[in-house]
Amino acid sequence: MMEIWLKAHENKNLFTMHRVERTLYRSKSKYQDLAVVDSPQFGRMLLLDGVIQTTLRDEPAYHEMIAHVPLFAHPAPRKVLIIGGGDGGTLREVLRHPEVEKAHLVEIDGQVIEASRRYLPELAAGFDDGRVKVHITDGIKYVQEASDQHDVIIVDSSDPLGPAVGLFNQDFYRNVRQALKKDGILTAQIESPFFNMDLLQQVYGSLTELFPIVRPYLASVPSYSPGIWSFMLASKKHDPRKAKREPADSWELRYYTSELHRAAFALPAYYCQALEETAEVADRAG
Ligand code: SAM
Repeated sequence: MMEIWLKAHENKNLFTMHRVERTLYRSKSKYQDLAVVDSPQFGRMLLLDGVIQTTLRDEPAYHEMIAHVPLFAHPAPRKVLIIGGGDGGTLREVLRHPEVEKAHLVEIDGQVIEASRRYLPELAAGFDDGRVKVHITDGIKYVQEASDQHDVIIVDSSDPLGPAVGLFNQDFYRNVRQALKKDGILTAQIESPFFNMDLLQQVYGSLTELFPIVRPYLASVPSYSPGIWSFMLASKKHDPRKAKREPADSWELRYYTSELHRAAFALPAYYCQALEETAEVADRAG
C-alpha cells in the first residue's frame, strides 16, 4: 500500500516528516491553508500553512501549561481573554476553573473554529459553555479597543508569520497591559528557546519595559520541534511561581501538576544567559 508522508514546516531550515493515515480536511481560508490529518505517531493533527498547531497525543502539555500556570498564579481569575486559540484547547482548560465567570476568545479565522468543532471535538468542547463569548476578529485590533478589564490574558497564537506577526510586538503588549486589571497576568506562547532565542529576547525586552514581573517558563511538547517550548508570563503584581490553588483530581490533567508549576520556571543556563544579555543591553540603553 502507498505510504503518505506529511512534511511539516518547523522553520526555514527544518521540516519534520510524519506518516499520514488519513486526510480528513483541507481548505484555504482568507488567512491560511488549513488541514486536519490522522497520523499514527501523534494522532489527529491540525496544521495551518503546513505548521503543526496541535496534536491529540501531546496537546495536554501545551494547553494545560498555557492556561493553568497563569490562572493558578492569579488569586481570583474571573475574566479571561484568549487571543488566537481557535482550536479550543486553551479555552477548555480555562473553563475548568470554577472562578472563571466570563471567557472571551478572539480568533481571526472562523474556519479554524469550524474545523476544530467538526474534527477535534475533544479540544472544541468549551465553545458551547455559557460563560464563553467568541469574537471573529483580529486580536491586535481587539485589544486596542478593549475597554473590558481582564484578570488574565492568554495569547495562544500561531508562529510569528502573517496575521500573527503583530501579536509579538511591544505596541500589542502595551494594549494588553491596558486591557488587564491592576493585578492582571499575561501569558503568551513564545516558540522554542532552542531555535528562536532572538524572538524570546525581543519579547522579554519588550515586556520588562511594561511589567514589573516577567518570567519565562517551559513545557515539553514533543510534536513542536525540538520538543522544548517556551511561554512568557508578565504580571502586574502576583509572583507567578507560587500557585494559589491546585487542580481537582476530577480534572484528570495529563501534564500540569503543582510541582511542575514551580519547576517550569527553572530555565537552562543558555536561556538565563540570553535573558541577562537582554537586561544588560536594556540597562546600557536606559
Ligand atoms: N498551539 C498553537 C501553536 O503554538 O502553534 C497555536 C494554536 S491556535 C490554532 C493559533 C491561532 O491563532 C490560529 O487559529 C490563528 O488563526 C490565530 N491567529 C493568528 N493571528 C491572529 C490574530 N492577529 N488575531 C487573532 N487570532 C490570530
